[in-house]
Amino acid sequence: MSQLRTRFAPSPTGYLHIGGLRTALYSYLYAKKNNGKFILRIEDTDQGRYVEGAVEIIYRTLHETGLLYDEGPDVGGDYGPYIQSQRANEYMYYAKKLVESGHAYYCFCSEERLESLPAVNGARRYDKHCLHLSKEEVDRRIKSGEKFVIRQNMPTEGSTTYHDAVYGDITIENSELEDQILIKSDGMPTYNFANVIDDHLMGINCVMRGIEYLSSTPKYNLLYDAFGWERPMYIHMPPIMKDAQHKLSKRNGDASYEDLVKKGFLKDAIINYIALLGWSPKDDSEKMSFDELLAKFDIAGINKSPSIFDPVKLAWLNSLYIKEMTPEAFAEYAAPWLENCYLKDFDKTLVCKLIQSRIETFGEIEDKLRFLVEFPPFDSSLYDNQKQKTNADTAREILPLVKEKFAQVEVWDNQHLYDALIALATEQGVKNGKVLWPARIALTGLAATPGGASEIAELLGKKETLRRLDECLSRL
Ligand code: GLU
Repeated sequence: MSQLRTRFAPSPTGYLHIGGLRTALYSYLYAKKNNGKFILRIEDTDQGRYVEGAVEIIYRTLHETGLLYDEGPDVGGDYGPYIQSQRANEYMYYAKKLVESGHAYYCFCSEERLESLPAVNGARRYDKHCLHLSKEEVDRRIKSGEKFVIRQNMPTEGSTTYHDAVYGDITIENSELEDQILIKSDGMPTYNFANVIDDHLMGINCVMRGIEYLSSTPKYNLLYDAFGWERPMYIHMPPIMKDAQHKLSKRNGDASYEDLVKKGFLKDAIINYIALLGWSPKDDSEKMSFDELLAKFDIAGINKSPSIFDPVKLAWLNSLYIKEMTPEAFAEYAAPWLENCYLKDFDKTLVCKLIQSRIETFGEIEDKLRFLVEFPPFDSSLYDNQKQKTNADTAREILPLVKEKFAQVEVWDNQHLYDALIALATEQGVKNGKVLWPARIALTGLAATPGGASEIAELLGKKETLRRLDECLSRL
């Protein structure tokens, strides 16, 4: 085979959904693994669905995630233009060629006539009514300005088979194929026609896309055959589900790539997770850098069965990526989220140190740190801890001593504060937890906190720490 050429062909509908990004990722990885080229084509022939700014989102996301295309609208290439609406003449030219060879025909049927056709299994099927119009009649009606579409003339007998790299041999009875529209009445091609013309003219020899196209592909293959063009290799990908019954869909409010970034997921984690939605490496590894994905990607690892988008697993992967950031990179990335937390009085380096290993997404930061600026009264049952044998009574005894110990600490850092609390436990002949638990509760008013008593005291500073202890004692 000549050089491998794959493509990503999104429609600019306003966002890049997870399934789209997966198609882009797999197409990129497969091309790059085989020294091939990865091409971006914008499929905007459905002007009704066009959304302003959507193309820019596609460019930005692919650049941001490192899915750099070798050819595309904004980077150029020898097979352009790479935007379908700029290729309208090509489609008409090829549609007319099909009409000449008898593989397509003009159709003038009105909406009313189409709607009056009998429905079979709930679907109306075009009845080839205009197939037998004479050339003269067609010419006359076109000349008189009558609206028309061009339809594919499907064979009525036999079957069409092709091989899909994931799903194996797919066979469809030709009698099941409708004479689909190739050119619409506005002169624009349908997706079903444009994708074939463009893939051929752009030298695409490997088509990777979602499983929803598996059963339409025989129609596309009949077009390739009609032109005498070589069919590409096909790799269809399993659906991505929200749960056992529902497909993941932005239209139903499921997150797009941009939404995930806004929620505080790192692009590397998103790409890593998306790679696993429908593919697994031979060694079953889960956390993989972009380079590792490139090294391991293999179409034999693409699964047939649907994969479920699991936000819990994505968050877990994200936390691994967060943990491995340098403190500087973490601080820089966390900055916009910290802005929302009104933390001007706090040492940002300490805040970052406290939370870096304790968040799964950056979006959790605001909630996790709220206790630093808000300290509302809390229920004294929070002091109850069976394992540490603590409760409000033990807190009432130990907290004044904690306060006293803290008041004497000169170097106000985690280590010195921790040592002071441990020394107190030793002096009192009690387990460490008997001191640490109530101290942490008293400083935060929360059962779960990002960090222990001494880390939180360090961050709050001496004055605020002692003030909170006083306040809690007065409430006990
Ligand atoms: N424009 C189609 C879509 O966004 C592309 C399908 C294909 O890859 O051929 O679903």
